[in-house]
Amino acid sequence: MKDTFKHKGLRQQLVSVIKAKGITNEAVLTAIGKIPRHLFMDSSFLDHAYQDKAFPIAANQTISQPYTVAFQTELMQVKKGDKVLEIGTGSGYQTAVLCELGAKVFSIERQQELFKITSRFLPKLGYRAKKLIFGDGYKGLKEEAPFDSIIVTAGAPFVPKPLLAQLAIGGRLVIPVGEDVQTMTLFVRKGPKEFEKTEFGEFRFVPLLEDKN
Ligand code: SAH
Repeated sequence: MKDTFKHKGLRQQLVSVIKAKGITNEAVLTAIGKIPRHLFMDSSFLDHAYQDKAFPIAANQTISQPYTVAFQTELMQVKKGDKVLEIGTGSGYQTAVLCELGAKVFSIERQQELFKITSRFLPKLGYRAKKLIFGDGYKGLKEEAPFDSIIVTAGAPFVPKPLLAQLAIGGRLVIPVGEDVQTMTLFVRKGPKEFEKTEFGEFRFVPLLEDKN
């Protein structure tokens, strides 16, 4: 597991690219500039690790495009010490970004293979999520609620009710909603039954599937 000078250079170029695409949050840019994305990917894609693109990982899933990771993370407005829930651990790259921001991260993955690989891998890089869970993200994580923010990293055909219910007042849910193409959607909980919804652009994710596998 090597992180070379060359990788660091490529990473700074990637930071410039996503900055040019409109990401302004300095903490998010710093995290992207710091995390060795090439180590989260299959060796056959190493040369592409610092392109602003999604790539295949194990179990037919993908590591999200860095711009998408940055865009979603920016919408979460993470503050140090925030309790955060991620649905779709995947490669653990987004989890690492949240750890870099000082969040207490709970992350759920429905593919056992990925759950196992990533649970072993993240601590090796020094990223310690509060808890990685093998389970179904549609249900959220009631026993740890409420969360300051929740991020869904797979395309949701609808907004799962438990996720809204598990937000703290003032909490933020960032979720791509749609079947083939998803609209990035932000819900801010204004009161026990009051949510403010804002829609952003279109993105493409692998589908949020029910149950575990
Ligand atoms: N955050 C990841 C993105 C991985 S792609 C990364 O940075 O690499 C989306 C992930 O969501 C996949 O790993 C997929 O298996 C997972 N997923 C899909 N449906 C899910 C569900 N209901 N609960 C938990 N994880 C789910």
